[in-house]
Amino acid sequence: MTSFDLRRLRLRSGEEHRDEVEVELPPLEFGGQRYVSVPSTVAAELTVNRATTGTAFRLRLHARLHGPCYRCLGDAVVDLPIDVREYQATNPDSEELRSPYLEDDRLDLSAWARDSVALALPDQIVCREDCAGLCPECGRNLNDEPHAHEDERGDPRWSALEGLKDRL
Ligand SMILES: [Zn+2]
Ligand SMILES: [Zn+2]
Repeated sequence: MTSFDLRRLRLRSGEEHRDEVEVELPPLEFGGQRYVSVPSTVAAELTVNRATTGTAFRLRLHARLHGPCYRCLGDAVVDLPIDVREYQATNPDSEELRSPYLEDDRLDLSAWARDSVALALPDQIVCREDCAGLCPECGRNLNDEPHAHEDERGDPRWSALEGLKDRL
């Protein structure tokens, strides 16, 4: 996991530091499925602004996640431009003035990036906007084999049960 040590910056009030950082992006669980960043480490830009009252952080990166399509379970890719900010007051007297990603002057970039990516995810991750999904009748992929079940021959599972009943 990637963290950034702020102590080595020695920023004074009014100063800004900008850095190119490589952030390891851990896999995400979403809708019971697993999505992984490819590559697992992404280039990000971190900006640190020091003021007398506190420190402002900005993280920018472009995440590309790979995982199953919500509809057909085929491969899906989602691109997410991330641009997020955090603030830590010099003397925080409430949780709101404290960044959850900052501890002992170390900024947890991986956790921050992962949470930001999770918040930026669409409602459904699909392989393409018009993905037809899986056939609810037979489970075959409707993108590969567009078809409909018009003749009501009945559910094959029921006919199997019927056959079983005859033998009892
Ligand atoms: Zn799909
Ligand atoms: Zn079908």
